[in-house]
Amino acid sequence: MAATASGRQAWRQLLRNTPRGPAPKQQQYRSAFSRQISSTTTQASSRRAVPQSQSPSAFLRQQPLAQRSYSSGSQGKNTPPRSNSNQVKFWPFLIVIALGSGGYMLLVNRRKEMPPTTTTPAFSPTDVTVLFVLGGPGAGKGTQCARLVRDYHFTHLSAGDLLRAEQDRPGSQYGQLIRDCIKDGAIVPLEVTVALLENAMRDAITSSGTKKFLIDGFPRKMDQALKFEEVVCPAKLVLFYDCPEAEMEKRLLERGKTSGRADDNADSIRKRFRTFIETSMPVVDHYEKEDRVVKVDSTSTPDEVYAATQEKLKKALGDKL
Ligand code: UDP
Ligand code: MG
Repeated sequence: MAATASGRQAWRQLLRNTPRGPAPKQQQYRSAFSRQISSTTTQASSRRAVPQSQSPSAFLRQQPLAQRSYSSGSQGKNTPPRSNSNQVKFWPFLIVIALGSGGYMLLVNRRKEMPPTTTTPAFSPTDVTVLFVLGGPGAGKGTQCARLVRDYHFTHLSAGDLLRAEQDRPGSQYGQLIRDCIKDGAIVPLEVTVALLENAMRDAITSSGTKKFLIDGFPRKMDQALKFEEVVCPAKLVLFYDCPEAEMEKRLLERGKTSGRADDNADSIRKRFRTFIETSMPVVDHYEKEDRVVKVDSTSTPDEVYAATQEKLKKALGDKL
């Protein structure tokens, strides 16, 4: 018994150590078949896949000789050029990456050579003083500006007056657009208003040498504010007249009896109030955050409002007033 058991162990040992002889034919076909499958799915998609209904051996018989691989030493002469087809697929990626990186480097170098795209304002704030005067319709901006012009030699430019003049100028291409906007209490596209203001400032500077401007009723929208400060002149501060809507409405209806303005009627006034709250107040809020707002309550009489204006402006501007 003992002799038989040790004999079996010796056999197992012998089987483990002995290098295997050539595999039976069927087994060789099976390994060739699995290689064929993997190369079919991972490489040449044009090669035929094994039809479900076909047996592996039938499939192999139909394959052209060049694609068959019979020996377990798959590096033999008959091995299909697998690594070659891999290279062919890899090259397009390399070319695309190389071209892309080259183009990117070219762009980066071009950018370095380009001049910076910042705009210099037409007038320097160290040379020219600009105060924006804001407040709801009927808050009293025009009335207070007239007094500041009288006492401090400001040049008063009302955006609304400039727009009305442009609207009435014979041959103006913006006449109808401005007319429609004013009637609806809407805001005229900023390019028109900013250009009118810049021209008026240049004319005033060349004709009278003035350097102090009150820009009344502007900017009424954030994009106007940014554009004006970028291309015309940064403002020193915003003079904001704060007045309750009921009081402003009363004043506008009273003014409408004699002003002849197309927007001093109940319907336009309502639209102007809405535009002021929704579009113009964010401008005041923006400058308030930058600590550039002088706020004056304008509910009382023009004289009282003016006294408050003077006091606050003296404090804020000193000798620039
Ligand atoms: N307006 C505009 N952009 C401006 C200023 C005025 O479009 O920057 C138009 C707007 O339709 C406004 C109207 O002009 O309702 C009248 O403006 P104005 O300043 O004369 O009105 P106020 O505030 O003095 O009543
Ligand atoms: Mg006005």
